[in-house]
Amino acid sequence: MTPIYDRVALIGLGLIASSMFWAMKRGGLAGEVTGYARSAETRATARRIGLCDRVCDSAAEAVEGADLVVLCVPVGVMGAVAEEITGALKPGATLTDVGSVKRDVIASVGPHVPKGVHFIPAHPLAGTEHSGPESGFADLFQNRWCLLVPVEGTEPAAIARLRGLWEAMGSNVEEMDADHHDLVLAVTSHAPHLIAYTMVGVADDLRRVTDSEVIKYSAAGFRDFTRIAASDPTMWRDVFLTNKDATLEILGRFTEELFALQRAIRTGDGDHLHAYFTRTRAIRRSIIQAGQDTDAPDFGRSKKSP
Ligand code: NAP
Repeated sequence: MTPIYDRVALIGLGLIASSMFWAMKRGGLAGEVTGYARSAETRATARRIGLCDRVCDSAAEAVEGADLVVLCVPVGVMGAVAEEITGALKPGATLTDVGSVKRDVIASVGPHVPKGVHFIPAHPLAGTEHSGPESGFADLFQNRWCLLVPVEGTEPAAIARLRGLWEAMGSNVEEMDADHHDLVLAVTSHAPHLIAYTMVGVADDLRRVTDSEVIKYSAAGFRDFTRIAASDPTMWRDVFLTNKDATLEILGRFTEELFALQRAIRTGDGDHLHAYFTRTRAIRRSIIQAGQDTDAPDFGRSKKSP
């Protein structure tokens, strides 16, 4: 296949960047891929495992001559990294990112985008609880959504080219505006993560149930919360600090519903509980019908798995 971009630069070499690299290499989607991460340790790991064709010692060096530059760093440092590379961006290049929040990234990166560079924010809705350069794999984006959030006036040809890359990496692509993206993600990802963090934190605090009991009997639901709550602390701190309004709005709604359920339990209102759980079960069914999860019992874990 002819590469979609001759030269790609990945800034930040964690889960998302390494998955992009392996997917691009497998599909022959990029010519040379350069990479940069902040720590010498990550850069050494990348060199050892062959992550990127060339690992550079500065972000500016990595982006020099690149047709596509992908910011794969935590949302809170996107602006600073953009400022660092702005002078090195090639005219006509596309600058994109993979951050989980979009309005804040547009506000912090936007002012550093030179004229003649296409800035197309993006967010692949794919991930795991693992992070770092060794956690990526080529199939991560397979049948997952990637949302493009182009700013007004962006050249359609540049958007189409980036869309082509994500599709070739296995994603389904849709365009969305930044505010709507942040609200949708607050519902589907950000608030659920906060709830999982809270649940695991509560179990840790509850001294009437010992730690060993929590771990031993975790398959009864708690285990799934622990997977989510094991996600990278820096990434998630930044998500909540930058998607403050939408997350707080959804958490407000969540608290109200929780109080209503609490009241139903206290007053013995079984009809309310039953109707509520029937509605939530239908949502689970539609996620499976949309091919976004497996119908296998216990999320398809084998009986032998821990
Ligand atoms: P990750 O595995 O933790 O990797 C982050 C990378 O960014 C590391 O290589 C880190 O370098 C580098 N970095 C941090 N600060 C930097 C700085 N100031 N300058 C240069 N590099 C810096 O993270 P990830 O999971 O790939 O997430 C990357 C982005 O994708 C985030 O914006 C996140 O919101 C978004 N995202 C994540 C997921 C997910 O589930 N993980 C899903 C979709 C989107 P060091 O290793 O040297 O510290």
